[in-house]
Amino acid sequence: MQLLNTWVARAIPWIPRTLVQKISRRYIAGDSLAEAVVRIRHLNAVGYRATVDVLGETVSTLQEAQNTADEYIRVLNAIQTHNLNATISVKPTAMGLLLDLPQCEQMLERLLESAKLHTSSVCIDMEDVSCTQAEIDLFQRLKARHGNVSLALQSYLRRTDQDLETLLRDSSELRICKGIYLEDSSHLVMDASRDRSAINPHFLRHVARCFAMEVFVAIATHDTELIDQTIALARSSGVDPSMFEFQMLLGVCEPLRDKLLQMGFGVRIYVPYGKDWYGYSTRRLKENPRIAGHILKSLIHR
Ligand SMILES: Cc1cc2nc3c(=O)[nH]c(=O)nc-3n(C[C@H](O)[C@H](O)[C@H](O)COP(=O)(O)OP(=O)(O)OC[C@H]3O[C@@H](n4cnc5c(N)ncnc54)[C@H](O)[C@@H]3O)c2cc1C
Repeated sequence: MQLLNTWVARAIPWIPRTLVQKISRRYIAGDSLAEAVVRIRHLNAVGYRATVDVLGETVSTLQEAQNTADEYIRVLNAIQTHNLNATISVKPTAMGLLLDLPQCEQMLERLLESAKLHTSSVCIDMEDVSCTQAEIDLFQRLKARHGNVSLALQSYLRRTDQDLETLLRDSSELRICKGIYLEDSSHLVMDASRDRSAINPHFLRHVARCFAMEVFVAIATHDTELIDQTIALARSSGVDPSMFEFQMLLGVCEPLRDKLLQMGFGVRIYVPYGKDWYGYSTRRLKENPRIAGHILKSLIHR
């Protein structure tokens, strides 16, 4: 089955977009902000927090970056209008990081100011390794001027041990995740076999450092073993549950997220929406251990 999954994951670029859209619908709130609002209201009503991602990554013009920033401003307005318990998650390349750094920073600055007015906050997603240093630098400059910004760090990168220590010195609020991009193994803590569980000891060590430094940390994983280990660590170190939250992606491992909520932990759901769904959806499908089954089922029911 593992082999079949790997084969199917490799075949995704050849699968018709309509089929990819159909099977990845569970991961995306919809095309429009209105659909995202409906989804977040349902999540909030049962106790989940949310963070909103306007789908779209590297842009090719500054106008596209501006459009993305404008859409995020609409999200922040909606958070206030509908009294949502939600933040936003932003990819700097969607704000033009690779086109014009000062402009990208200005756009993020605008989002942070708007988020502050709406008592919300901004998490900077971490992208591929070619952006890591630029995104850490950007975060540090923004953090010097704003309190409501956090940064994602990827435990699969060798450099993260060092980056984490630098960021913890400034009491930075962080999201720890395994990491999703296909990187050269020279950057990674695990070997080329890409055994995801090999990242776990590093992830746990990163969370432990955040606990020890008493900074708020978001634990973004669906890995049951890692979650159990984190809870055990928090309990044995006497960390108050208000100092961390779990984060999960929309449509992934829902019984697990329900269980964490029932146990009294804070759980935030990452809610993507927008027309630019393809890149995000294919990454999610590749991570789904039942990918082959889902695709075969959809082909049969076409
Ligand atoms: C809130 C949030 C924010 C994130 N932000 C970033 C970021 O800024 N930068 C970045 O590089 N990555 C980010 N990620 C992605 C992350 O790095 C991982 O790629 C992703 O979460 C899967 O890894 P995992 O920790 O769940 O562990 P894995 O070992 O990959 O998966 C553990 C188990 O979770 C289940 N699972 C995982 N994914 C799926 C899926 N799509 N469908 C069904 N089951 C699944 C499977 O049972 C799997 O065995 C984020 C993830 C979350 C939850």
